[in-house]
Amino acid sequence: MTQKYKMTVGLEVHIELSTKSKIFCSCPTEFGAPPNTQICPVCMGLPGAMPTLNRRVVEYAIRAGLATNCNIEKRSGIDRKNYFYPDLPKGYQISQYDAPLCYAGHIDIVGENGEERIGITRIHIEEDAGKLIHDKSEGTLVDYNRCGRPLIEIVSEPHIHSAETAREYLKKLRSLMIAAGVSDCKMNEGSMRCDVNLSVAPADSDTLGERTEIKNLNSFAFVVKAIEYEYKRQCEMLDRGERVRRETLRYNTQSGKCEVMRSKENAIDYRFFPEPDLHFVVLEDTDIENIRKQMPVLPDEKQRIYENELGLSAYDASLIASDPALSDYFEQAAEHTEYRKQLANILLSEVFRLVEGEDFECAISPKYLGELSEIFGSERINSSTAKKILALMWEGDGASPEEIAEREGMWQINDESILLPLVLEVIEKNQKAVDDYKGGKSFVIRSIIGKAMAESRGRANPRIVEELILKEIEKK
Ligand SMILES: [Zn+2]
Repeated sequence: MTQKYKMTVGLEVHIELSTKSKIFCSCPTEFGAPPNTQICPVCMGLPGAMPTLNRRVVEYAIRAGLATNCNIEKRSGIDRKNYFYPDLPKGYQISQYDAPLCYAGHIDIVGENGEERIGITRIHIEEDAGKLIHDKSEGTLVDYNRCGRPLIEIVSEPHIHSAETAREYLKKLRSLMIAAGVSDCKMNEGSMRCDVNLSVAPADSDTLGERTEIKNLNSFAFVVKAIEYEYKRQCEMLDRGERVRRETLRYNTQSGKCEVMRSKENAIDYRFFPEPDLHFVVLEDTDIENIRKQMPVLPDEKQRIYENELGLSAYDASLIASDPALSDYFEQAAEHTEYRKQLANILLSEVFRLVEGEDFECAISPKYLGELSEIFGSERINSSTAKKILALMWEGDGASPEEIAEREGMWQINDESILLPLVLEVIEKNQKAVDDYKGGKSFVIRSIIGKAMAESRGRANPRIVEELILKEIEKK
């Protein structure tokens, strides 16, 4: 199918900004408060209540725009989008229509086909709606706490041609937004949601096919599954000679299928018009420059620093920089060691093995992991000891790596005068292996080293042991 039909995807991502108060009133925005305890006449849309734009929302949205290489509009409009929905008490949503705050940006991702640039059409600010709760015994209830929480909508160009690229784009966008400090992007709490626009056309066609829109996906996995399902469905329709209709779909997470919410025939006419209760958002160059100056370090820049200044490999640097929680942890740990490369190794191999779930959470303090890297990097312990100490710390041993090594007698033996007799003994006892090695079976050296390591109860410096063994065998 992929050779016959080309998929084209554009994504619309809603991100809830982590400002303390709502976009047009001073109600708090914390997640999880009891229903209808964070409301006032403004966000309830009571007659006569007047909205006031939260300055911080504009600032955060500009940060999001700068993080995605957008141009910032110096005179952007605030518009009224009319539609009725039970969780939207005003009967309209305040949003931006033809002059959004940010436009014409891009982000670079590394996808299946190497580096790809995905265009950002626009980023605009708007208010969120409330939430309906369907309760078996009570019927449908409505919680207005979410009404008026600040959102940005980030609209991509239709530059995405696979589910995997969509996932990479979302991952990058998420890490940029968290790094820029504009949102926590918790998908399970709804602070990042995604709509997918997808069309299919014959691979050699220059025009796009009719698109469908899949609404409100709240995990990367569902985005991938919904795209794969919808691509297959549209391909099969074209194969049967049918025409894809313009429809809005909902992805059913139970059945794994997309269901029709509404078709083009009953599409909503939002009758946008300028919001009469609010003015344009007018910015000076200095406003934008001040925000630019306060921007935190973003993942691409972090990756450069890790690579060029801390000596990490390109792969390790990009892996760590792309995950905000992981890079935070790494930077804290790196303050406790000169051996950053070893720290990255321990983090990405040993610690990753122990971490469960999607989010990076480490049971060991960054300070202790930094100290572990320090005694390992300076060859005071060897790698198998480092693993043992790591396991003890993970299980809740409250002592520092130094204290554990001291307590358990784990310090590495680097002294050749202690190691030599041990090596000689192992060579003596394993004459056959030595002969095999000399006969050309070079891999046998591993087992001889292993025996010497075991003899030292794992404490010998494997590098020195190897050197000594090779030197002694050479003499024979
Ligand atoms: Zn309010």
